[in-house]
Amino acid sequence: MHEMSLMESVIDIACETARQHGATRIKSVRLDVGSLSHADPDALLFCYEAVRHGTIAQGATLEINRVPGEGWCMNCEKTVALADRFGPCPDCGRHRVQMTAGDELKIRDMEVI
Ligand SMILES: [Zn+2]
Repeated sequence: MHEMSLMESVIDIACETARQHGATRIKSVRLDVGSLSHADPDALLFCYEAVRHGTIAQGATLEINRVPGEGWCMNCEKTVALADRFGPCPDCGRHRVQMTAGDELKIRDMEVI
């Protein structure tokens, strides 16, 4: 499963970061997940539960923050909302939009003990 490997690396990074800060436990993790990314939040939560076992993130809650899609329209020369990855500009209707946000999957912040 695609989400499984994503969450494995999220847990890896979270545990590594916590250790670098001398923490022994992770309390919570907040993830930025772009709404245009192919990661499904429900699947992410499910995989998170599975991969955190036996790590210092075992008791940590996961909060998923959905980041809306955004792109730069080369025609309007401004940032516009993007409903899908290769979607048109909502203002001019052209397909000259370069995605600038909405594809991310990264740790926004975390709480450690
Ligand atoms: Zn436009």
